[in-house]
Amino acid sequence: MTNTVESTRAKRIGEISFEDLEQHIEAAQIPTLVMLTAHITGDPKVLKNEWRPAPAVFAPNPLTAQQEAQAREYCLERLAPYLAQQRSWASRPTPELLREISTWLLGADLEDARALAEISFVPNEGDPRAPQWNLDQVDPQSTMNAVVIGSGFSGLLAALRLKQAGIPFSIIEKNFEVGGTWWENTYPDCRTDVPSHIYTYSFWQRDWETHFGRHNRIHEYLHNFAKDNGLLEHLIFGTEVTASIWDEENDSWTLQTRSTAGIEESITARVVVSAVGQLNRPSIPNIEGLESFAGPKIHSAQWDHTVDFTGKKVVVIGTGASALQFAPAVAKDAQQVTIVQRSAPWLMPMPILRQKINPDERWLMENLNQYRAFYRFSLFLPRVIGNLPSATVDPEYPPTEVAVSAANDALRLMLTKYLSDQVQDRPDLLEQIIPNYPPASKRIICDDGTWIKTLKRDNVRLVNEGVSRVDETGIWLGDEYVEADIILFGTGFKAADFLLPMKVEGIGGQDLHEKWGIDASAYLGSTLPDYPNFFCMYGPNTNTVIHGNLVFFLECQANYMIDALKQLAQSGKKSLNLREDVFAEYDKLITTESAKRTWGWSKTKSWYMNAAGRSTIMWPLPARDYFERTAKATISDYVLS
Ligand code: NAP
Repeated sequence: MTNTVESTRAKRIGEISFEDLEQHIEAAQIPTLVMLTAHITGDPKVLKNEWRPAPAVFAPNPLTAQQEAQAREYCLERLAPYLAQQRSWASRPTPELLREISTWLLGADLEDARALAEISFVPNEGDPRAPQWNLDQVDPQSTMNAVVIGSGFSGLLAALRLKQAGIPFSIIEKNFEVGGTWWENTYPDCRTDVPSHIYTYSFWQRDWETHFGRHNRIHEYLHNFAKDNGLLEHLIFGTEVTASIWDEENDSWTLQTRSTAGIEESITARVVVSAVGQLNRPSIPNIEGLESFAGPKIHSAQWDHTVDFTGKKVVVIGTGASALQFAPAVAKDAQQVTIVQRSAPWLMPMPILRQKINPDERWLMENLNQYRAFYRFSLFLPRVIGNLPSATVDPEYPPTEVAVSAANDALRLMLTKYLSDQVQDRPDLLEQIIPNYPPASKRIICDDGTWIKTLKRDNVRLVNEGVSRVDETGIWLGDEYVEADIILFGTGFKAADFLLPMKVEGIGGQDLHEKWGIDASAYLGSTLPDYPNFFCMYGPNTNTVIHGNLVFFLECQANYMIDALKQLAQSGKKSLNLREDVFAEYDKLITTESAKRTWGWSKTKSWYMNAAGRSTIMWPLPARDYFERTAKATISDYVLS
């Protein structure tokens, strides 16, 4: 080590010794450490080519151990004087430096990165997108109030924004706790497969013990968010909204509610924010004889923790994201597990999926000013820019159910190798585990090797036959009868049935579900003509496959809603109603763009498509596009009254 480091070594860094700091930095992620060093020193020379991470999000770390050691030593030497003197540094880099940092991180100076870099870097403190206005100041006479339906990720965020803007609100929640899907889903090994530091509000970062948070930790995060932000006192628990009816005379919504005790009431609100989620109505296939089955039948989202799998014969139906988490856990206890697969999932290598974060790195996240912000930035920016080209159909390629473009094929080859490498010793499994549709037609599931290891277990069998019938003691898979004590459904959700079972009636008593049919659509996933002051969170076409981040989309959507309400308040009017022509043009764009993407083109089954073969779930454009369209509400898109 050099003199600077040696002379610093003698000193203590705040509460800790230099040796301890050095040990913590041993656990630092190299991209984060390099970017933080560039920021603290203001010197971009540290952004060396040989220390750059792999450009593709899921590609392995290209640095050798020696390169990593060199990077650590170089950064520590430059950071040492700042740390020893406990000098503080700015909470964010200059725009110029941030551009250099982004260019280094991504390996190119991308236009999308330039547009998204500023919003992607969120310092440890502060909430840059909090509304900078207050209803009292904008319109002291305003009678605006709001009801938020649902208190999951999107409802709590919308509620906070309303609170920050001084708009009176209540949150109606059908459960007796906040958290939505992260309260309801408790199946074994349930966790997010999006890294926790980006599966959190950008402005409310917290400590995580694992890279991918378990369901109970995510629920705890959401509960604490509600508690610490004073949202719990706005919650009406154990109550379902059964209908929202627009009252044209009073420019307000009448919400009919029913409590779990069966008490029915009405609430009025000028604004409704529907944050009811997409993944909470279990989809259980209609199988002949299912009701006659004598044993437990459990859907992943309604887990029965009293059921003991020890020594039991279990049938698992489905091989989606949920089943890939609970089936390996069940297989450890069960006598026999038969997994019924309709289509094989593409798997994305993610070795740290079930790993804890090194305690030394957790120390850096909590104590080294802006380390966590740069860590988050290193995860967020590449993912939010995403890899839409590899999910885009090239008509000249020509597209097939194998691959839809050269980029898509490159992704396919990479993922195929990941799968085939794992069954070198079990070639009989190869044909069953390679999907027969282009990657990115549906969710690519993160995996650390657990899935194929599970399929190789002596007590596990993967079957590709459809379920034809169930009786008291078992299940027919084609012509084969399989005895079963327990049937587990990993068969997903009725995601395309937006806002059901709530009835929504807009201007002229128009029923929203009749208007939609099976083709749900909303402008920017948020608003609809003839449903004034009705905002959806996580509405139609606001999900992403490999080109975005759900929480970021929610933050954009909440931003749009609050900006529209600000402009409504400024106008002194009571309601805003989306123009039909704006909606029609948008709807056409979404339909056209969806058809160009893998999920819109492929005929494989998935919850991304509705029964008419149209995508009502996915955002088909770059994430940047969504960010820019939601940055400000264009009030002329609406008729104000
Ligand atoms: P899903 O992705 O919809 O998967 C459902 C599975 O059941 C698929 O394998 C599907 O086959 C199969 N299936 C459906 N109906 C069937 C039938 N009649 N017969 C045989 N198989 C049938 O549902 P999920 O796994 O619950 O996941 C839903 C979404 O929740 C995910 O995409 C993700 O967004 C979210 N999720 C996330 C995580 C996470 O972050 N780790 C975990 C769980 C869930 P096909 O593929 O052929 O349709």
